[in-house]
Amino acid sequence: MIPLRAWTEIDLSAYERNLKNIKNALPKHLEFVSVVKADAYGHGLPQIVERSLQSGIKAFAVANIHEAFEIRNIGVGWPILLLGALLPGEEHFIPNSDFIPTISSIEELHRLNRVCEAVNTSVYIYLEVDTGMGRLGIWYEDFTECFNLVQSMNFINLSGIYTHFSDPINDPEFTLLQRQRMEALLNSQPLPKNLKIHADNSASFWDLHKYPAFNAVRIGLLQYGVLSNEKSNLGKLNISPTLSFYTKIGLIKKLPKGTSISYGRKYILKKDSKIAILTAGYGDGIPIAYGEKGSVIIRDQLCPIIGQITMDQIIVDVTELDVVETGETAILIGASKTQTISLELFSERSKTIPWEILCSITKRVNRTYINPRG
Ligand SMILES: *Cc1c(COP(=O)(O)O)cnc(C)c1O
Repeated sequence: MIPLRAWTEIDLSAYERNLKNIKNALPKHLEFVSVVKADAYGHGLPQIVERSLQSGIKAFAVANIHEAFEIRNIGVGWPILLLGALLPGEEHFIPNSDFIPTISSIEELHRLNRVCEAVNTSVYIYLEVDTGMGRLGIWYEDFTECFNLVQSMNFINLSGIYTHFSDPINDPEFTLLQRQRMEALLNSQPLPKNLKIHADNSASFWDLHKYPAFNAVRIGLLQYGVLSNEKSNLGKLNISPTLSFYTKIGLIKKLPKGTSISYGRKYILKKDSKIAILTAGYGDGIPIAYGEKGSVIIRDQLCPIIGQITMDQIIVDVTELDVVETGETAILIGASKTQTISLELFSERSKTIPWEILCSITKRVNRTYINPRG
């Protein structure tokens, strides 16, 4: 086998444990909708969906119809919620598909209805309400018109209604306002029975027993053992990271004090140093911004990144390591015996959010899986 240069390792049993612990923490009346968009947050959609099914998950959400077809390749029998807008032309793929589109406008509704009438087939939809996210969804003050139209359409069945929070961690007051706008809508008209009603995602799902109007949650990031930010109160949830990110030492050399390191010549060695050139760079998804305060773990020690991160290499200072060899593994995200670089920390030091880091790991990085089921 050709040695790997940069790879992620995805722990499927950690993933399964996370699902179980999240499910156990949810009030019993809440359905768990597993969000697996963007290739399951960079974990590989087929592997993650298969393990979810084995763990009893029965509902999935993805961003778009292409991703929904990827799930269909695995099998049939579970509804797939499409979280994105329904593009003109996509409505033809909804009848007889088990895909449940999110409808945000009367225009989308008419388009879908025309196709359903033409093929004489009814479909299920979700209505999304914009309660303050300012993105997809029907503005909450215009909801009733759209809702009444759905009720009048013979081929369109309502599966559920959901909204999305814009700042659940930092602005609990606004989140509550969004929740109340949603609750007011739900109370303002008689609703069909058995509707799925949801609002919460990874960042907001705590204390849900207080909001009986909602009966499902859409969980993405948390499944992968990652907290939305350090203010999250979900630390007590007992989840663990599912993804580690590794590279290797390609070259070790000694350079004299005063040598400049990497492009731009902004980093100058303050003393005679031993440096290691690692075989991954921004071409693998390590943001240039991470270079400023970032480090890697080699032989259970943190080694600082020096000089600018380049496309195929990053350079670290290994002067402190007495013994170190070419070909050894360096941990970019993950843990050794005594050191940890969490995805949360990696993201913060890259001046971005964990979601973006997971989506930025490029296809040059090999994915490996551990702890598959028997
Ligand atoms: C991505 C997404 C989610 C999942 O969010 P996490 O924070 O990853 O749990 C839920 N709802 C919608 C509408 C989304 O786009």
